[in-house]
Amino acid sequence: MAAWKRCVPRALLFGNTVRFHTGWLLDMISLAEALRCIGETIRPAPIIETPLADACGRVLARDALSDIDSPPYDKSLVDGYAVVAQSGAARTLRVLEEITAGRLPRVAVDTGSASRIMTGAAIPRGADAVVMKEDTEDHGQTVRIGTSHILPGQNILCRATSFAAGQTVVAAGRTIRPLEVGILAEAGVTRVPVHAAADVSIIATGNELVAADTAPGPGRLRNSNGPMLTSAVRAAGAVAHDLGIVRDTMSELREAVARGLRSDFLILSGGVSVGVLDLVPRVLSELGVREIFHGVRIKPGKPVWFGRHGESDRRIGVFGLPGNPVSSFVGFELLVRAALARFHGHHDWQPTMASACLAGPLDHHARRDAFYPARLRDSADGRTAEPLPWRGSADLAALTHANALIHVPPGNETFSDGHRVDIVII
Ligand code: AMP
Ligand code: MG
Repeated sequence: MAAWKRCVPRALLFGNTVRFHTGWLLDMISLAEALRCIGETIRPAPIIETPLADACGRVLARDALSDIDSPPYDKSLVDGYAVVAQSGAARTLRVLEEITAGRLPRVAVDTGSASRIMTGAAIPRGADAVVMKEDTEDHGQTVRIGTSHILPGQNILCRATSFAAGQTVVAAGRTIRPLEVGILAEAGVTRVPVHAAADVSIIATGNELVAADTAPGPGRLRNSNGPMLTSAVRAAGAVAHDLGIVRDTMSELREAVARGLRSDFLILSGGVSVGVLDLVPRVLSELGVREIFHGVRIKPGKPVWFGRHGESDRRIGVFGLPGNPVSSFVGFELLVRAALARFHGHHDWQPTMASACLAGPLDHHARRDAFYPARLRDSADGRTAEPLPWRGSADLAALTHANALIHVPPGNETFSDGHRVDIVII
């Protein structure tokens, strides 16, 4: 900052002494309090039934029960010969038939016989063990069993071993991953009760903004927050509607916010700080959005605004994120993501925290919880976080090299190499 700027009172930099306005800064709440407010405000989305193919990533809203035993029959776990365990050892047996998966056995096995069987096929009557093909000698009509060690039940998965009909296969509250999709398919659950995906509108405010496909003229900047937040919303499993750029006028903002309030969530970037054109809180309040907090003791992201519109069953969560792209991103990661997670049915969502050793010194001077971009590395010696050089909350380029944020509580300290720190994985 130029020396003259450092000497000018903050109020004059904003161009209007009336706006020497630090009230909300003094009222700032902690990150933990902000997350608690969000948790209390946002209710889980209504339950809908989604086709199994679209269920991945959603939270299961009711226990899922199987309509069958699984496996539905005693099945062979290997390719080999179905035998009577007690009699099959080290003998030559007559081969009765060949049972491939999907075909039913026709004859019962006795102590003098065996049936050639493939993995997944049903065990024939009489047999209680399967000898692996590798332990046999195939002579066409007969088979020589090469092992003397056969136990009853060997290489057989009995009916209903995994689960029985009527049993819960996935409990309510679990996030559905590809693994759960598989087990739901096995259990015949093809319409899956999940919490609906949030519908989220995104507005980028600022007279200085031009769209990403336009070369910015003098004093103009490209809108990076709109596309960034839209993608972040989609990555969080919600449906995003990018409402584009809106100028810093009451009328344009009113019109855009009214449109955004048709969604489950509205996210605005810019216009929430103490500048003369930071009109977002005023417009939101005019349109009946109740402020829950304005200002969180985090760095970057301090001026973040959160409120709610409407009551009980039609309750809309509204976030005003600071315009600087890194602040917008951090506000999204720490707060908006928590709100979306709760809406999507994650009851106790937390940012993915871990701990790592610093790989390089970190200068920390902040009266707020600070988040520094870092490169996380895992090696045989453990996990390290290298603080990355960056020039503050407008430096999105530096953040693109990061895969984590180092979280340091308020204080003044230079941490040296090897110091253990908390990190948030991004
Ligand atoms: P504001 O929070 O509205 O005061 O914005 C602070 C600064 O963030 C602006 O001066 C811009 O440099 C930058 N900014 C605001 N909105 C955006 C955006 N949508 N994309 C990129 N940068 C932005
Ligand atoms: Mg602005």
